[in-house]
Amino acid sequence: MSGMNYDVVVIGGGVIGCAVARELSRFQLKTCVLERDEDVCSGTSKANSAIVHGGFDAEPGSLKARFNVEGNRMMGQLAEELDFDFKRNGSLVLCFAEEDRPALQKLYDKGIANGVEGMSIISGDEVRSLEPNVEDTVVAALQVPSGGIVCPFGLTIALAENACENGVEFRFFTEVQNIGKTEDGYVLETSKGQITAKYVVNAAGVYADKFHNMVSEKKIHITARKGDYCLLDKEAGGIVTRTIFQLPTKMGKGVLVTPTVHGNLLTGPTAADVEDKEKTATTAEDLDSLMRRASLSVKDIPFRQVITSFAGLRAHEDGDDFIIGEAEDAEGFFDAAGIESPGLSSAPAIGVYLAELIAEKAGAGKKADWNGKRKGIVRPELLSKEEQAELIRQNPSYGTIICRCEGVSEGEIVDAITRTLGAKSLDGVKRRVRQGMGRCQAGFCTPRTMEILSRELGIPMEEICKNAPGSEMLTGQK
Ligand SMILES: Cc1cc2nc3c(=O)[nH]c(=O)nc-3n(C[C@H](O)[C@H](O)[C@H](O)COP(=O)(O)OP(=O)(O)OC[C@H]3O[C@@H](n4cnc5c(N)ncnc54)[C@H](O)[C@@H]3O)c2cc1C
Repeated sequence: MSGMNYDVVVIGGGVIGCAVARELSRFQLKTCVLERDEDVCSGTSKANSAIVHGGFDAEPGSLKARFNVEGNRMMGQLAEELDFDFKRNGSLVLCFAEEDRPALQKLYDKGIANGVEGMSIISGDEVRSLEPNVEDTVVAALQVPSGGIVCPFGLTIALAENACENGVEFRFFTEVQNIGKTEDGYVLETSKGQITAKYVVNAAGVYADKFHNMVSEKKIHITARKGDYCLLDKEAGGIVTRTIFQLPTKMGKGVLVTPTVHGNLLTGPTAADVEDKEKTATTAEDLDSLMRRASLSVKDIPFRQVITSFAGLRAHEDGDDFIIGEAEDAEGFFDAAGIESPGLSSAPAIGVYLAELIAEKAGAGKKADWNGKRKGIVRPELLSKEEQAELIRQNPSYGTIICRCEGVSEGEIVDAITRTLGAKSLDGVKRRVRQGMGRCQAGFCTPRTMEILSRELGIPMEEICKNAPGSEMLTGQK
């Protein structure tokens, strides 16, 4: 791969890198995404609350406020164009004490300043009539109808597939190690050799400070801030229909309780700064604390129905805002750094903003044959009985259920593996079709999915990994 030249190189295949790549794919630019892992959506974008925030929380005038509100407005149409799961379920921010009403009002005022539409402050009784399982102690709430929930894997993978279909190259297992300036751009030293580019987009998540600081004297600093979650079985998914936030009070920063777009219940996150940017292990202490705090909002959360716990790392920059745009003293180097929450919500708007900046600087015109539509994997459970029967008649593998918890068929798994930027590992399949995301957490379907991966990729079972090499599922026979 040495000697590869591009107009634009994007470092990082998270939701931000993929959103920028998809928007860049509109333009006549030779673009490449470099990702150190085996797949897109392997970093923070895979482990978060998956909320499309309304945008009431960020400081007015901040980049977080601007891109959150813009991204929220874009999400519905994008979900239609790219066929990923998104639902505008609305959110409520609960206020537990009369003395906290001014803080609730302040949140409303911030929302108004940020351009959030449709908000209102409602009484405790109104809250309980909307959400009967909310605690009796709630005195009022901020209602935000524009809040939503999204599948973060679905969003990121859809953006990446559409970028790829429109000509963007994706290079996996390609770790950027160093960046140097050339006469008209940058040279990137990677684990797979040297790559040059006129423009670089730094979308490396918690590592974005490292790359920014390689080319700029105006140093930035990102702290990884860990958030733990508990995910509950779908049986618990109906306890609330809206996303339930807590007003930050003297009891501490609240945790949320929300249905997921696939019908599970999610509670979390905690917040703890960690030194190690790879440290995504949950702790019993944090999980205990989040269960206690979630119980302040919603009655009788059935925590015995927890099916998994996980943690994600926020990329918190010292300046407490997103850093987006061309670095002041590094021409052609574009940051998307410090993209902590609401980064997922903001991704579509950040993508448009950065791609347009770069295209303008490069003087690049639009492609005539750009196709912004992408069709997701066919899901038989969403079809009518007649359509299901026809699908199975045409391709019987859609009638063979592999993952019983989530009802995932062999046909869907084959599609996940063989489509554009298809899955190469068990995790890759899981993020595309939810195989293994149910109650048994892949206890039963793993061997069958491995057989399908082995057959479709033409590799022996011993080489099938959970994700990266080193995570092989079998040791093989000697
Ligand atoms: C606990 C928590 C809760 C959150 N909740 C929400 C929410 O509800 N709503 C919301 O809008 N946002 C939320 N967020 C924020 C959101 O998840 C992030 O802003 C978003 O996922 C960041 O995407 P990214 O692409 O910048 O980073 P990432 O997804 O981390 O992507 C960066 C990529 O860069 C790659 N990379 C790193 N170093 C290199 C290298 N040297 N070479 C090549 N590739 C490299 C990584 O492997 C990774 O894939 C939350 C975040 C956390 C942690």
